[in-house]
This record gives sequence, structure tokens and C-alpha cells, in this order.
Amino acid sequence: MTNTYDAIIIGTGQAGPFLAQRLAGAGMKVAIIERKLFGGTCVNTGCIPTKTMVASAYAAHLARRAADFGVVNPGPVSVDMKLVKSRKDAISGESRTGVESWLRGMTNCTVYRGHGRFESSREVSVGSERLTADRIFINVGGRAVVPQMPGLEGVPYLTNSSIMDVDFLPRHLIIVGGGYIGLEFAQMYRRFGSEVTIIETASHLAQHEDEDVSNAIREILEREDIHIRLNASCIGFSKHGEDILAHVDCVTGDPEVSGSHVLMAVGRRPNTDDLGLTEAGVAVDKRGYIIVDDHLHTSVPGIWALGDCNGKGAFTHTAFNDAEIVGANLLDSDPRKVSDRITAYALYIDPPLGRAGWTEAEVRKSGRRALIGRRPMTKVRRAVEKGETQGFMKIIVDAQTHEILGAAILGTGGDEAIHSILDVMYAKAPYTVIQRAVHIHPTVSELIPTMLGELRPLSDVAGAAQ
Ligand SMILES: Cc1cc2nc3c(=O)[nH]c(=O)nc-3n(C[C@H](O)[C@H](O)[C@H](O)COP(=O)(O)OP(=O)(O)OC[C@H]3O[C@@H](n4cnc5c(N)ncnc54)[C@H](O)[C@@H]3O)c2cc1C
Repeated sequence: MTNTYDAIIIGTGQAGPFLAQRLAGAGMKVAIIERKLFGGTCVNTGCIPTKTMVASAYAAHLARRAADFGVVNPGPVSVDMKLVKSRKDAISGESRTGVESWLRGMTNCTVYRGHGRFESSREVSVGSERLTADRIFINVGGRAVVPQMPGLEGVPYLTNSSIMDVDFLPRHLIIVGGGYIGLEFAQMYRRFGSEVTIIETASHLAQHEDEDVSNAIREILEREDIHIRLNASCIGFSKHGEDILAHVDCVTGDPEVSGSHVLMAVGRRPNTDDLGLTEAGVAVDKRGYIIVDDHLHTSVPGIWALGDCNGKGAFTHTAFNDAEIVGANLLDSDPRKVSDRITAYALYIDPPLGRAGWTEAEVRKSGRRALIGRRPMTKVRRAVEKGETQGFMKIIVDAQTHEILGAAILGTGGDEAIHSILDVMYAKAPYTVIQRAVHIHPTVSELIPTMLGELRPLSDVAGAAQ
């Protein structure tokens, strides 16, 4: 028997549930399918659990630094990983059950448990059930890439998902991948007490960032005795007694790193390989991402793709925005589109990096006339008072229009302070609006107007390459 709906949503990540609420609220009969954990990556194996663990790691770090603040430290600080995990499980679990009960209690919405697969462009199977609708929304997210590396199949390794079950302290965690996910795990495990080595094939960490940002990140991590092996080539693995040997073949340093555990953090891939996309006629690119237009239509009318699986974003806020775009177009006659979005994200090491818009390297490459302002966190009173002066902030504006092109705040509170810049970018207002705004003292944000008062031609400043 086939169950007929107005809309089918596959996946309950960051776009699906919100879209279900919008469509069901508009009176549509909606089916939503989840094969595993309600809430998807962010809730279960991504943002929420990692930021919860980052908070535990920060507490350990501050406890070790207690004497710097005049607080008497009774002795060595240690971390109980079982307690760290149970705090993380409680916070993440609350969100997961919250998403599930929200969906199950939603009027006009039916929840299906199981793997959804297209049988045709209008039909989806879930186990023995057949669902049909004229509108189908794909929100299947992604998972960790596990690349083919010599010897990897012969050694145990962790991913962002399986590391969530770890309730002990790895003696020496080898992290393959110096991107955002790898860096967050690196600092957090170091602060928990593990020895940590990051192995990265590129010549610098967080390789999409400007070189000055990347170098500052490296200094922050190395100050905490995290080992960093860049330019690693021919990465391979073998067992050596209880240990795992990672062969790194780097230009400098030992050709091997010996550790107790390996975390693979080399990127993500979309969950589109077992979705029946061929049966539906939905086109994907060569990496498996679903091809969509600016309004998130796929190549098949009546099918949309939202979130990480469309390759237009790799964040919770971009997935959620996808749902806003689709909802606005379908229900409000409001032609919102993906290209309205300004790139923005944070890297949650401590201190965090908040980013908005273009990098300096991208602006230089564009050939535009631009102005740049830069300020070290040592010259931000709030950072000095908090004893957290690592990092810097910089901003780049168009010399002609005075619109802000991009900014990076690597420093305490950088993940929050970046929003005062981002909002002015969305307003397409000139930078002078922030420069003349009176910000609160003492905050990190109050130095943004000051930095904007010290702009110099980008061409006069030595380049921060990417
Ligand atoms: C370690 C880590 C940390 C992160 N930290 C941040 C952060 O701090 N900030 C941020 O913005 N982003 C962060 N991200 C990224 C963020 O988690 C993702 O961008 C976001 O979850 C994407 O949401 P989504 O809706 O596309 O899909 P997902 O959240 O991945 O959800 C997809 C859902 O679809 C289900 N599904 C898949 N296939 C099927 C099928 N065939 N049938 C039925 N159900 C299916 C899955 O089980 C899953 O529940 C992090 C990611 C990782 C891995």
C-alpha cells in the first residue's frame, strides 16, 4: 500500500524538522523519515557534543592556569573522562529527544523510522512502506570521509562519530587532518591530558584561512605542546605492539609518529550514495553532492536538497538557512536565495576564530582596491583583563564603496564579536556605521571601531597569502 502525502522530508538534520513545521503549519500533510539519530550530525556527533566537550576542556585549562589569576590551586588538575562524556551525553541527548518529541507531536506530520530511498521521482520507500508526494525534500547530511591510506584497514581508528563513545583518556591521540574538526578535537584532548599529534598534508593548518590566521592558530596549539606535522606525504599506518605507527614521511622531523589512538578528520562526504538518486533522476556532482540551483531545486522538478548534502554549506546555520529559503519561496512568495548568504563560521579552538566574508587572500586575488585594519589581542583591554591575549583581529573594506568585504577575529570572544561586523555586511552599509557606533566597554567588540579608524591601503601591507 502507498501512503500519499503533500511533502516527504528525508532526514531530520538541521533543515528537515524546521521545514516540516513550516509545511505542516501551512496545512500540508507531511512525512519525515529518520534512519538513525534525530537531530542528525550537529545534535549527536557534531556541534553540540563537541562544544560541550570544548567547555570541559576550557574548564580544565583555566583550572591549570588558576594561579595566573591569583586563585590558589590545590594540586594537579586531572579530568574524569567518564564525567566529561556523561555531561556531553546529557546535553546532546536532551536535544535529540527534544527534536524527536517535537516532530512526533507535530500536527499534520508523520514520523517514519528507517532508511529512506527513492523508488522514482515521486516515491520513497522506508522498509516495507511506500510513500508518495509531489514534493520531496532531501536533508540527508554527510559523514566522515575515510580515505584509502596504506595500512589503515589493519589498525583501529576513530571518526567524529565513534569518538563520541570514548570515555577514557587516549595516551597519545594522532589526528589525521588539520581542518576545523581536527583542530577542535586536538586542543580539547590535549587539555584533557592526552599527548596529541596533528598530521596534515597541506603546508599549513586550517588551509582555507589566510596564512597569518593559520600561523597564529599553529602558535596557539604549539604553546599547549600539541605536535604538528605539516606537509605530510604518503600517510600510512602499521601496528607496533600496543601502539599504532603513523608513517608521515614529512620533510622535517621523524618519518613516523607512534600513538595509542587515531582520529580520522580529513573531511566529509554526503550521504547520497544509497538514496536511489538514479531512480529519481536527481543529478549529483563527481563528489556525490546533489546539484541545486539558487533556490535549492535539484535537477528534478518537485525535489529539493537542503543542508550539507547540496555542497552549498557545511554548517548548521547554512542548513537551517536552506530550510528558511525553501519555506520562504514555497509559502511566502519571498524569493530568498542561497547567494544572499554571506560566508560566516567559527572555529572553536580557544581562543576561537570568528570569520565573515572574504579572506584577505581572496580580496587580493580579486584585484579590488581595498583597505585593511589589524589589531593584536594584546591591545584589547578586555582580553588583557581576562588574561587571554592570543590572536588578532583584522578587517578589509572596499576602498570605493566602503562596504566591508571580510573579517577575522581570532581571539577571546571572537565567535560572538564577529556578528557586529556580519550584520553591517548584510545591511550593505559602509564601515563608517560601525566606526561611529559607540560600543560597550570593556568588550572585544569595542575595538572594532578603533580598528576601522586605522585602515591602510591593502597594497601598502605585506600580503597574508592563503
Ligand atoms: C565534529 C563536528 C563538529 C561540527 N561543529 C559545527 C559547529 O560548531 N557549527 C556548525 O555550524 N556546524 C558544525 N558542524 C557541521 C554541522 O554538524 C552540519 O553542517 C549540520 O549538522 C548539517 O546538517 P544537515 O541538516 O545537512 O544534516 P545532518 O545533521 O547530517 O542530518 C542528516 C540526517 O539525515 C539522516 N539520514 C541520512 N540518510 C538518510 C536516509 N537515507 N533515510 C533517512 N534518514 C537519513 C541522518 O541519520 C541524519 O539524522 C560540525 C560537524 C562535525 C562533524
